[in-house]
Amino acid sequence: MNGADRYAVFGHPVAHSHSPWLHARFAELTGQRILYEARDVPPGQFDAALVDFVAAGGRGLNVTLPHKLAAVVAADRLTARAVRAGAVNTLSVSPEGLLGDNTDGAGLIADLERNLGLSLAGLAMLVVGAGGAARGVLPVLLDAHPARLAIANRSPAPAAELAARLAAEGPVEALALPAAHGPWDLVINATSASLAGERPALPDDAVDGRSVCYDLVYAAGPTPFLRWAAARGAQRTADGSGMLVEQAAESFSLWRGVVPPTAPVLAELRQRMARARRS
Ligand code: NAP
Repeated sequence: MNGADRYAVFGHPVAHSHSPWLHARFAELTGQRILYEARDVPPGQFDAALVDFVAAGGRGLNVTLPHKLAAVVAADRLTARAVRAGAVNTLSVSPEGLLGDNTDGAGLIADLERNLGLSLAGLAMLVVGAGGAARGVLPVLLDAHPARLAIANRSPAPAAELAARLAAEGPVEALALPAAHGPWDLVINATSASLAGERPALPDDAVDGRSVCYDLVYAAGPTPFLRWAAARGAQRTADGSGMLVEQAAESFSLWRGVVPPTAPVLAELRQRMARARRS
């Protein structure tokens, strides 16, 4: 596509990434001309790959594991939400240099509020996990004014550090995973346990009929956590495919100044993932 602006996602591994397809669909639906590729960038090679990409006229990047911290360092400026998350998943190239942003939190909130119709203010929320994804979503969950926000992680120290860092911003606390007793209105699994076919070892009473349960991992079928939550009688379960689409849409609109429609793209993504699972 001659004259199209170039974008990419850098990650390792990256072959599984849905981002090239998502951004191509957003471009088709909004009449934008872009080229978007996935580039496998091994650890330690992020800076060199970034220099090459910008020198070749690249306009913007998504950044995924393991480069979200390297992208913080590489950025000339950071948005406030990237500073709060301590991680960058979106870089924009401009004459003033590289702007680092983080759209993960906004993506989760858009999915919870717009797609799932939840009102977040006043809820008792439990976030399980204390890795990069949890760091990205906790500040925006606090912004939604929960009655209570607890962080429970398999290794207690990172959860305690995160809670201490956010304590000035709202009612946040760290709990040991087996002590994360309910009732919780919203339980978010921000661990990577589902990728290993596991679920975090929450107590049985962490989930009951009032709980909405959300797994950041996106899969064509219910994850072990979501299956467990449904068996516990959770009022609703959802995986992270909506967040994936919404955070990508947020990046796209930052780069292009146009907000793409997300509902039809999410429906198509779910069909693609279901087909991939069957084949
Ligand atoms: P990370 O930094 O590697 O952190 C992994 C977290 O999972 C840690 O808190 C770890 O606990 C915990 N964990 C791993 N296995 C576990 C198990 N069996 N039981 C309990 N806890 C376990 O990864 P991340 O960047 O936070 O990403 C987490 C997940 O979020 C990824 O799977 C990713 O796919 C997903 N994600 C989705 C989106 C989206 O758009 N939907 C966006 C970002 C991330 P310890 O500290 O004890 O090791």
